[in-house]
Amino acid sequence: MEEARKYIEETYSKLVKKDPDQTEFLQAVKEFLNSIEPVFTAHPEFIEQNILERIIEPERIIQFRVPWTDDQGRVQVNRGFRVQFNSANGPYKGGLRFHPSVNQSIIKFLGFEQIFKNSLTGLPIGGGKGGSDFDPKEKSDAEVMRFCQSFMTELQRHIGPDLDIPAGDIGVGGREIGYLYGQYKRINGSQAGVLTGKPLMLGGSLARTEATGYGLVYFTDKMLQNEGKSFENKKVIVSGSGNVALYAIQKVHELGGTVIACSDSNGYILDPAGIDYTTVKQLKEVERKRISEYVTTHPTAIYSEGNIWDIEEAYQIALPCATQNEVNKDLAKNMIAQGVIAVAEGANMPSDLEAIEVYRQAGILYAPGKAANAGGVAVSALEMSQNSQRLSWSFEEVDEKLTDIMEAIYTEVRDTAKLYQVEGDFVAGANIAGFVKVALSMISQGIV
Ligand code: GLU
Repeated sequence: MEEARKYIEETYSKLVKKDPDQTEFLQAVKEFLNSIEPVFTAHPEFIEQNILERIIEPERIIQFRVPWTDDQGRVQVNRGFRVQFNSANGPYKGGLRFHPSVNQSIIKFLGFEQIFKNSLTGLPIGGGKGGSDFDPKEKSDAEVMRFCQSFMTELQRHIGPDLDIPAGDIGVGGREIGYLYGQYKRINGSQAGVLTGKPLMLGGSLARTEATGYGLVYFTDKMLQNEGKSFENKKVIVSGSGNVALYAIQKVHELGGTVIACSDSNGYILDPAGIDYTTVKQLKEVERKRISEYVTTHPTAIYSEGNIWDIEEAYQIALPCATQNEVNKDLAKNMIAQGVIAVAEGANMPSDLEAIEVYRQAGILYAPGKAANAGGVAVSALEMSQNSQRLSWSFEEVDEKLTDIMEAIYTEVRDTAKLYQVEGDFVAGANIAGFVKVALSMISQGIV
C-alpha cells in the first residue's frame, strides 16, 4: 500500500528531525515502523487519525535533579527520568533503570517498547519507564538508600497506584525497590500498589523475581515445540547474570537443556558441563561480586574478558539477557556459525537492526524482547491485582498464570504474523498485535 508506506516514511523523517541524537529511541521506532505496514490495509483509519505520530510522542516526560550525599560527605548529583509514554490501555507501567548510560533516548526507547509489550500481556496497563544515570555498582547500602530516598522525594508526586506504577530494571532490584517504597510511604502513607517487584514482606508477589527469566524460557519452549523441538539436550548461552539471566538459567536446566555460558559487563564464564545457577546467584545477588570469581569454586569453567557472543563453541539456543545492542551483525553471524537455531530476547532490544537481519536471512527462530520478556511486567500486573485485593497468591498459582500468559502471547504473536501474511516473522507479529490494541483504544478515547 503506497499511501501507508509514504505515511510511515514521513512519520519517521519528522522524528529524525525532532530528535536526531536519540539513537536508541530512533532504532526502536524504526524497527516498529518497518514491520507495521500490513496493518493499514485493514485499518485505513489509523492514517486518518494520525496514530503513528501520536503513538511515538510520549504523553509526558519528567526529568529531575537527584542530589544525595556519599559516604565521604560529598554532595553528588544525578539525573532522574520518568517517561509516561502511553496510557491508552491503563496506568503507566514499566521499570526504573539505574545505570551510568541512562539518558532520555534510552528511557524513551524502553518506554516505547513497553507500550507494546504491556499490550501483549492482555492486562490493563499502559507504557512507561524511568531511571537515573546513578551507578549502584560499588556503592554502599547507605549510599544506595540515600540516593533512592532523594529520587523518590521527587518521583512520588508523579506516580500513584492508579496513575503510574514503577518497578525494577537493570540496577534496580528488591533492595532499591524497598528503599524507594519506604520513602514513598513516609511521604504519602502506605499504598503497596504504587510499586511492583517489592520484597515479599512489603506486599510483593511470589514468583515476581523469577518471572522474566521463567517467562522467557516458557515462551522459547512454545516456539521450539511448534517446530517439533524442545530444550532437551540443547546447549544454551545466556548473556548477563542479573535477575533475568539467573532465572532463565535455572528454568533451562529444569527443562533438560544445558547453559554453557553466562556473563557480566566485564567478561564471561564458559563451562561445557553447565553453569551452576546457585553459585551465580550467590555471587551476583548476595555478594555483589564479578562473574570472574565463579572460576575459584568451579575450576572446569574458564573466564574470558570480552563479548560472550564471540564464543566459538557449538550451541543451539541463544538467550540475550544483558542489555541493548549487545548483539551486532558480526556477533549474530558468529551465533549462526556455531549452530544456533533460535534466539529469544530476555533483555530489551539486545539485537541491533543488522543482527535481526542476519537472523532473518538465516531463517532461524527469533523472538523479540517485547514478546519474549513480557513475563516480568505481566507478573507485576498480577502483583497489582493482589495488592488491590489485599491477598497474596501462592507461588504455584502465579507461576501457572505466568505460563498461561506466555503461551497466550506466543500464540497471538504467531497467529498475527500469519494473519498479516508475514508468517514466522515474530517481530512483525509482536509489533502488530501490540500496536492494533493500543491504536483502537486510543481512537475510542478521541483525540487526547
Ligand atoms: N523492567 C521490566 C521490563 O522491561 C519490568 C517492568 C515492570 O515490571 O513494570 O519489562
